[in-house]
Amino acid sequence: MKQYDVIVIGGGPGGAEAAAIAAERGLSVALVEQSRLGGTCLNRGCIPTKCLCAAAGRLLALADAAEFGIELTGLKADYTVAHRRAAEVMDTLRDDLSSTLSKVDLIEGRARIGEGRTVVAGTEFMKARHLVLATGSKPAPLKVPGAELAMSSDDFLDLETLPQSVVIVGGGVIGLEFASVLAAYGSSVTVLEYCKEVLPAFDSEVAKRLRSYLSRRGIKFVLGAEVKEIGGEPGAVTVSYEAKGKVCQISAEAVLASVGRKAVLPEGISEAGVDLDSRGFVCVDEKFATSAPGISAIGDINGKCMLAHAASAQARVAMGVCVSTGVVPSVVFTVPECASVGAKEADSESYRAVKVPYSANGKAVADGHSDGFVKMVCDSDSRIVGCQAVGAHAADLIAEAAVLIDAGIKAPDFAAQAVSAHPGLSELLQTAAARF
Ligand code: FAD
Ligand code: NAD
Repeated sequence: MKQYDVIVIGGGPGGAEAAAIAAERGLSVALVEQSRLGGTCLNRGCIPTKCLCAAAGRLLALADAAEFGIELTGLKADYTVAHRRAAEVMDTLRDDLSSTLSKVDLIEGRARIGEGRTVVAGTEFMKARHLVLATGSKPAPLKVPGAELAMSSDDFLDLETLPQSVVIVGGGVIGLEFASVLAAYGSSVTVLEYCKEVLPAFDSEVAKRLRSYLSRRGIKFVLGAEVKEIGGEPGAVTVSYEAKGKVCQISAEAVLASVGRKAVLPEGISEAGVDLDSRGFVCVDEKFATSAPGISAIGDINGKCMLAHAASAQARVAMGVCVSTGVVPSVVFTVPECASVGAKEADSESYRAVKVPYSANGKAVADGHSDGFVKMVCDSDSRIVGCQAVGAHAADLIAEAAVLIDAGIKAPDFAAQAVSAHPGLSELLQTAAARF
């Protein structure tokens, strides 16, 4: 039986951060990982998808080349090369992560929690004062007859060539990012979304505008669609769904189910006294402690905020670092991007919002990116409490807004006292603030 100060189960962004912090403090740490280091994010999530989103972005940027007097001939887009590049990027980042964890005992294997909170992985038996559960999440299944014909995001990322036609069930973050990539490479894409608008967690005006930009790129959307059944065979599937009281069918080469994710729980978790909520995620307090003393649960496993940077921030909190986890930006890496941080206009009647179009910004127009807008949300004291954007570089724009929200800055103060470079997209934030 090996004794450690900290044992972490799961080597994704949450677990890796927790292990690195503990090791940096001179504690003895074991990290048990059943698959590849980096978790969902590095191997089946953020990184491979962002490589593919980047490839789609490059490809679509070429569509506007003529406007800049650039003539393109013999253009060829080979998805296989983009796919191979993603694998190389993952390898590079995994090597970086391994060196960050050089002071951690890396144990390969599937961990379970045994008698007396012993962690068992293969032939290894170990114990620690602090056990950190960071086992992440996996795709939630679609619960309809024929669901086994649907592919998950994991399955899609394994494909070296793309299907010519795809039905995507679920117009959330994964669904839209895949739709954006698939359409850039010429696949015919239909998104079936159960709610009245795509990205139900986002500001509805932003989501609607993103949908309209994606529709312009040829992606078809059916809102309020309830999938009933999937039929056919791999390579030729038919999806039956009901929308506006009518039952319809759509055929395609492949179906992608992107209807959310569920927690991955290590065996023995309930016997160890860890409570779960009604959705099957681990219940935690504000410091990410579970109902079992000495056991924390960080990242997707607690279902609080299923983002990589949230998992690492939660790891820091669980390891006793003071972190503000209340203001967490969220980005959809479609073309164009869509991003949100803090409160939405609809969250309170006392909130006011100001919208500034990209077309009012010199840099956006010069770049040929005049589609989009920024929306700034303030409370009744004119304090900036939220910001959403749809358009080019929306992710970078709201990163600045996140700092303003976290610091409790009032819009008129930001407008009067800050200086933004001209021409620059961040002038959009100052223009919005000035309007309060
Ligand atoms: P994970 O990254 O899921 O890691 C958990 C690890 O635990 C895995 O490596 C698993 O093998 C291991 N494990 C599980 N059970 C055991 C066991 N019993 N024993 C040993 N090891 C075990 N987030 C963003 O912020 N930005 C993005 O752009 C983004 N894009 C995404 C795209 C896709 C397609 C997907 C699916 C997700 C994306 N996410 C993104 C979400 C992000 O990947 C997750 O929020 C993040 O990976 C969660 O980190 P985690 O540490 O909680 O768990
Ligand atoms: P999601 O919760 O973002 O979206 C799921 C969508 O599917 C919702 O719009 C929901 O209304 C819809 N839906 C559910 N059941 C349905 C059904 N039967 N028929 C039709 N529509 C249905 O989930 P996701 O897209 O699977 O992503 C999972 C998680 O991964 C998200 O929580 C997200 O945080 C994370 N992620 C983040 C990024 C990023 O940060 N860029 C990228 C990908 C994934």
